[in-house]
Amino acid sequence: MILSQLYDKALNLNSLSGEEGEFLYDHAPLEELMFVANELRQKHVPGRNAGWMIDRNINITNVCFSQCRFCNFCRKKGDADAYITTIEEYKRKIDELFSLGGDQLLLQGGMNPDLGLDFYADLFKKLKELYPSLKLHALGPPEIVFLAEKEKTTCRDVLTKLIDAGLDSLPGAGAEILSDRVRKIVSPAKASAGEWLDVMRTAHSLNLPTSATMMYGHIETRRERIEHLVSLRDLQKEKPEGHYGFITFIPWPFQDEGTVLKEKSGIKSAYSSSDYIRLIAISRIMLDNIRNIQGSILTVGKDTGMLSLHAGANDLGSIMIEENVVSAAGGGNTFSAEDLQTIIKEAGFVPVRRNQKYEIYK
Ligand code: SF4
Repeated sequence: MILSQLYDKALNLNSLSGEEGEFLYDHAPLEELMFVANELRQKHVPGRNAGWMIDRNINITNVCFSQCRFCNFCRKKGDADAYITTIEEYKRKIDELFSLGGDQLLLQGGMNPDLGLDFYADLFKKLKELYPSLKLHALGPPEIVFLAEKEKTTCRDVLTKLIDAGLDSLPGAGAEILSDRVRKIVSPAKASAGEWLDVMRTAHSLNLPTSATMMYGHIETRRERIEHLVSLRDLQKEKPEGHYGFITFIPWPFQDEGTVLKEKSGIKSAYSSSDYIRLIAISRIMLDNIRNIQGSILTVGKDTGMLSLHAGANDLGSIMIEENVVSAAGGGNTFSAEDLQTIIKEAGFVPVRRNQKYEIYK
């Protein structure tokens, strides 16, 4: 394969095959990858705007049967520090979110065997009743599969009931690497790659906005990273015309501090800044039908986050007022709204605050 031909193919918005993507990933000089990715960013999102947002993470419960081997956050039922967040706690946290100018909650698991579909539907309805302008970006494909199994119904039925109760968009949580070889090792109790994709396919058919993610840098191969991107691109091709589909793609590196993967299996995070930038660039090149690529400044920090905006990313994500799963494993970068805007400006872009659908606030 010849690099310049692959660059031309990508720049003409012709999809690269998995083999072609892998060849670029392995052989292209980083500066050339960044150049091509940046050109493609300009085709998908022209101009100098770079997005950011304010939202707040609240964990509904920390009890989770899944016990993923990269997760320090989950507890078993009956543990002294197990909890289910109360309405009073939601109110305090949402009031704080609104006082900081935000209007979206990222509500995430664990998968608590005691909590069924009615619990989540009632919770969403209650929060929307109390705060009609609040947006709920909540749960993720593994939780939808879990609820469907628990209620002996379909994922479509679960999603429909949650949308009726107030779900505004579905995070791409729990994708890790969409390879069952990898999943059997890092998160064996969680939804399979096929189930994750099926839930997203159903969400797209219901026109529920979604995001796609990747947690990489543990036991996966480069080929599996590329296959992950191809799976996302193929699924996006299936979405009905005019539906949201995947609005954005957000890769982040495995945070290893104190995880079972590191402590018991000796698997450390393979993260390096240059590999992250390479991954952002290759994601922009491979994902020719997902408009937005987000740099995960929360996990990679300021300098690498800034560089990602020159490698195909057009967004640095959220200030994320509270985040427990990543920070429990050492992803400890925090930024204020002012910080994030300053960082975007320092990188040479214009910060624009947007919502989960990437609509810009006027
Ligand atoms: S990562 Fe999520 S699904 Fe896995 S154990 Fe932690 S809370 Fe549960």
